[in-house]
Parts: sequence; C-alpha cells; structure tokens
Amino acid sequence: MSTFDELKEKISYLNQNDQKLIEKAYFFAEENHQNQKRNTGEPYIQHSLSAAATIADLKLDEPSVAAALLHDICEDTVITPAQLRKEFGKEISNIVDGVTKLSKIRITTRWLFVKEKEQLADYDRQVETLRKMFMAMAQDIRVVIIKLADRLHNMQTIDGVPETKRYRIAKETLIIYAPIANRLGMGELRGQLEDLSFPIVYPKEYMELKKQVANRLSEKEKYITKLKKTIMIKLYKEGVRGEIHGRTKHMYSLWRKLQRYDNDLSSIYDLVALRIIVNTIEECYKTLGIIHKNWKPLVGRIKDYIAMPKPNGYRSIHTTVFGPGGEIVEIQIRTKEMHQQAEFGIAAHWHYSEKKGGIDYILRKNSRVPKEELVWVKELANWQKALADNKEMISTLGMDFFSKRIFVYTPTGDVKNLPVGATPIDFAYAVHTDLGNHTGGAKVNNKMVDFSHQLQSGDIVEIIKKKNASPKTDWLEYAKTSLARAKIKSQTKNLKK
Ligand code: MN
Repeated sequence: MSTFDELKEKISYLNQNDQKLIEKAYFFAEENHQNQKRNTGEPYIQHSLSAAATIADLKLDEPSVAAALLHDICEDTVITPAQLRKEFGKEISNIVDGVTKLSKIRITTRWLFVKEKEQLADYDRQVETLRKMFMAMAQDIRVVIIKLADRLHNMQTIDGVPETKRYRIAKETLIIYAPIANRLGMGELRGQLEDLSFPIVYPKEYMELKKQVANRLSEKEKYITKLKKTIMIKLYKEGVRGEIHGRTKHMYSLWRKLQRYDNDLSSIYDLVALRIIVNTIEECYKTLGIIHKNWKPLVGRIKDYIAMPKPNGYRSIHTTVFGPGGEIVEIQIRTKEMHQQAEFGIAAHWHYSEKKGGIDYILRKNSRVPKEELVWVKELANWQKALADNKEMISTLGMDFFSKRIFVYTPTGDVKNLPVGATPIDFAYAVHTDLGNHTGGAKVNNKMVDFSHQLQSGDIVEIIKKKNASPKTDWLEYAKTSLARAKIKSQTKNLKK
C-alpha cells in the first residue's frame, strides 16, 4: 500500500504551488475512482499513486506527476476530457488524453504468439512500426514516460489479472514497452519491465534459467563483495573517491545474452559486475588505469562508451579483467551524471524545470541532450510531424482504429497513414497532389506493382513520377481515400475542359 504522504515526500523537489496542484490532482483522482477496485482487490487509487511515484522518482515536472495521478480518470470514471481540462487546464488534460489514446495500441493476435526466436522480417517490421506509432502518437515525451510508469505497475500487479489476459499484457510489455524504455535510455525501467514479463511470456525458459544460474550467482556475488573492498582501498590510495556497487544482471537480458553465447554461462562475465561511480571523466580514465595496473584486462573487452556513446546515449567505460584468483570479472566505470543518465535516460536530461515535453523542444532547447546520440529520438520527431499533419487520423482514433488503418513508408522513411485497402494512388495523393497527378508507376518494397495493388502496413512505397502522366477516370476504381478521389475527379474534369 502506498499513500499520498509517501508521494508528498517524493515531490519535495517541486515548489509549494506545484505541490498544491499535485495534492489537488490526488484528491480529484481519489474521489472519482473511489468505488473502484483493481483486479488485485486494492483500491484503484493505489495504481494512480504508484504511477505518480515512478514519475516523481524520475523528477519530472508537476504536470507530469499530476497527469500520472489522473491518467485513468477519463477512461475509467465519468469525468470527461472537457471536465478535466476545465479543472486542470490544457497541458495536463492533453497529457492524460495522450495516455488514454496509447492504450489503443495493441498487437494483432496474428503476431501475439510468434516467439522471438522465430522472428521473421515481417514480424520485426510490424513490431517496430508499433513502437514508432506509440512514440509518434504520444506527441509529448511525458505521455510516453507516464505510459511506461502505468505499465510498470500493471506488470507488478499482473497476478490479479485473469490468466488468459496475462500473456498479451506481458508480451506487449516485452516487445513494445521495454524496447521503448531502452531507446529512451531508461535502463532501469527497461530491466524491470523485461524481468516482470519474462516468466509469463517464456515460463519454461525462465524456470530453467533460474535453476541454471542459482549457484553461480551466489558464488559470484560473494566474490564481488570481497573485490569491492579491495578496489575501494586501491582507489583511495591513488586519491580517487567514488562509490562501488555490485550489480546483478537482469534475468531477461542474461537469457538473451546466453542465447548469443551458446548457452555457456561461464562465458558471461557480467552476470554480476562491479560498477564504479566517480566524479569526473578524468577520474573514470584514472580508475581504468588503476584497475588495469592491478589486474590484466581481457583482449577486446575494453569498451569506451564515454568516447563513443551508444545510440541511446549510454556512456560508461567497460572492461573485463582477470581479478584476484584468476576469476574473470566485468567492471563498469562512469560518473554520477552518466549513471543518472543510464538509469533514467531521457528523463535525466529533461529536468522538471524545463517546460514543454515535445521531442523537438528537447532537441532544440536542451543543450544537455547530446544531440548526435539521440538519433532515434530525432527520427521520432519526424514521425510526430507526419502524424500531427494528419488531423483526420487523430480525430478518428477509435478502438478499432488500427484494424482499419495501415502505416506505410515513403522511400525516405516518412510514415503515411492510410485506410486498409489503400493503393499506390492513395499513397501518391497523400504525399503530394502534384505527385498524385503525375503518377506513372509504383514500386512496393522495390518491386513494381500495378495501381490496384493493396498496400500493407510497413510497406515502403515509391511513386514513379512521369511528367506527361495524368489522372484517368479508371483510377477512381483504385482510390480508397476521399482525398485521392476528389483530386482525381477535379483533375479529370479540368483536363476535359
Ligand atoms: Mn493505468
């Protein structure tokens, strides 16, 4: 049971006014959810409090914490978006609205039972499209983070959910939510989401792995505890002050890694790793020197993610050494700031005092975001633009939305949202009227197709423009969208004149 007092403690980084707003949101949520219970039997407000606590731990701004408390208010109570807006303003109601909409992203049953080992290119693309759709629809990064916090609590309380529903929830968490957390650099959240889903999606494999690692894990933990003290003393003597933690690898990520290593546990050196957190980048390299002076590193195992960060912004130095007694151990070295980033990712960059959660805004205004490292986030900004231009899509967003719409790409990776059954003609007009009017041919996934070809989600569509091409009345047979039909009609009329 969490309480509002606990949340109050967590939001002490906010000013008095902001705290008052959150208090108001809490009482509003409590009153409106009051007779509702979660599947676990707990009062519903426990769920809202938990999501808000996760957001407060990330130190996001006051609208985020308030919106987390209110995130289910429009979906599960009589409160309408308009009422919420009147009570809490546009910013908070927009965030809540965004969170509500994201609930509608579902994987189709066709893909639900595909095992990750049997991944097909088709499946990969579908899942990737879902992830991007998720991000693109959110418009505001705060919506995504709240949705992740919401999912975290849903996973923590999944035992209350009927067994038949558990698999879908866990699978979606594993293939959509956790990868998004990862790409936003939120390593800790990703690990939690994966480890909560793992036993449900792969129960047999999970049990086997648990058995397999049990002994090794406890041995290794003992070893690391001893080594921690030794290293602490060595650093101290050289004038480096830092913290050292042992960190045990998350189960799911261990399982995935084992698959790449022929299931050979003895070749996994970071089952338990040591993490050294120092103050400056100079100290990171100095620490690496001290470690290597004392213990020989393994060839090819030194990774300098400070000089060359991972695409999600992750920075650290990793090395693997022959520790005392010849035991092989991985050591990760980073500054406090890098550690914050590795755990909280984009949320760490995005201090609560900075207003507006748009990804564009983050890229433009927040100089602390290492721009070149957030390639994926940039790509998303383009997706968001494409969707924002398509007001029709936002307004027609209903429960069955995704069963009636497809998402296809332009050759440059822009996404176009079309009805099921749409053809290259619809696509061409969706890109540009002029392109539609001069459609000479079409390629789908690099193969020529004719105009009656029905596009599928994930297709890459290229229109071959011909100067002398012009709309024919028989194009109306292929055009599904009203936009294309209207353009074809007016253009053929013009040509007759
Ligand atoms: Mn919820």
